[in-house]
Amino acid sequence: MRDFWLMDITLRDGEQAVGVIFTRWEKLQVATLLAGMGIPMIEAGFPALGPEEAECVATVARAGLEVRGEGEPLRVYAFARARADDVAAAADCGVDGVVISISTSDVHIERKFGRTRRWVLERLEEAAAEARRHGLPFIASAEDASRTDPDFLAEYYRLAVELGAWAVRYCDSLGVNDPFATYLHIARLRRSIPVPIQLHMHNEFGMATANALAGLRAGARSVAASIGGQGERTGNSPLEEVVMALKHLHGIDLGVDTARFREVAEYVARASQRAIPIWKAIIGTNIFAHESGIHADGILKNPSTYEAFSPEEVGLTRQIVIGKHSGTHALIHKFRAEFGIDLDADTATRMLERVRAVAVELKRPLFDKELILLYRELARGRGNASPPISGERPPPGSSRRRSSPLPGMCEEGRDAGHMCTGDST
Ligand SMILES: [Zn+2]
Repeated sequence: MRDFWLMDITLRDGEQAVGVIFTRWEKLQVATLLAGMGIPMIEAGFPALGPEEAECVATVARAGLEVRGEGEPLRVYAFARARADDVAAAADCGVDGVVISISTSDVHIERKFGRTRRWVLERLEEAAAEARRHGLPFIASAEDASRTDPDFLAEYYRLAVELGAWAVRYCDSLGVNDPFATYLHIARLRRSIPVPIQLHMHNEFGMATANALAGLRAGARSVAASIGGQGERTGNSPLEEVVMALKHLHGIDLGVDTARFREVAEYVARASQRAIPIWKAIIGTNIFAHESGIHADGILKNPSTYEAFSPEEVGLTRQIVIGKHSGTHALIHKFRAEFGIDLDADTATRMLERVRAVAVELKRPLFDKELILLYRELARGRGNASPPISGERPPPGSSRRRSSPLPGMCEEGRDAGHMCTGDST
């Protein structure tokens, strides 16, 4: 498994996720971040959508972005259906190349287009001729390739190569391959297709990353992936998962600055008005948050006990979280390391009892400020008393507001982690 390259499709498939629109400026920012991180090639959009989208793509194409700022130009591609006018619209944007796409499965050909396989090949010929007319390199993409008759798929790709495609794209558009099927499909295609095969795997059954790895192992050379896996429906192979899996599970370093993964994912998430799930592989904050006593104890002795890679490697930080499942070792460590307070064993034991009770009441771990409050409460010798709520009054007409189990922490403070002043504003 060597000589692979990535193509980021966040700005095209990622924007096709329901409810997502990137502005022109946001597209440029995402492209800049991707290039800065070391991604060599991106799909910037679908110019045939209209003038605004075409201008977005042209803005990215004209920006002169360099991969990691080291002189190698970022290769900017545009997406086009297999139509001459789509390809012409891409060429007008000044892109470096175009992805020409058409469905090849019978179900799409017959039920979506109401046409024949012959018609699909003719469309490809028309689009490829237009690309050649503009001197535009192109990748021939087969939408729904995974449900396409294998003989016809190979025929489509071979024609594409004859027409000048420098690579072909295998799309598991409905995410219906598993890694075993992916391997067999790609291994078979490799025998008759003389150009690089690029994988584009969707995630309906949660296997987009596994399928990408299986396809690469079978002989594919590239993955078209997106940040956070953002894309149509369940999305695509997350780029950060493919990069880290290749690096850590296969010893293949694609030269991507992985320390920027979280930063880039946060930008894409904000521009998409989406949150990054805390449990998201590679970039979710929970990967390096340790609460349970057994795990935290192991982490404090040696992070390799429960971390597959270091948080710094993906731009995250380790957190020792104190809650229902914590042990005294983690509590003592956290107080010493983060608050400069040495807890003796007796205080730590008594405090842990209170921590667990409060965590169960709140149904979550405790914020740092809450831990300090508990510590002060114990220090004042009121550890077993039901603490009063300092200065908090329920707002007029409010019957749902519950008192906090912690002194000085109002109900609203639970999410924000702030101290309640008692002012009702
Ligand atoms: Zn897709």
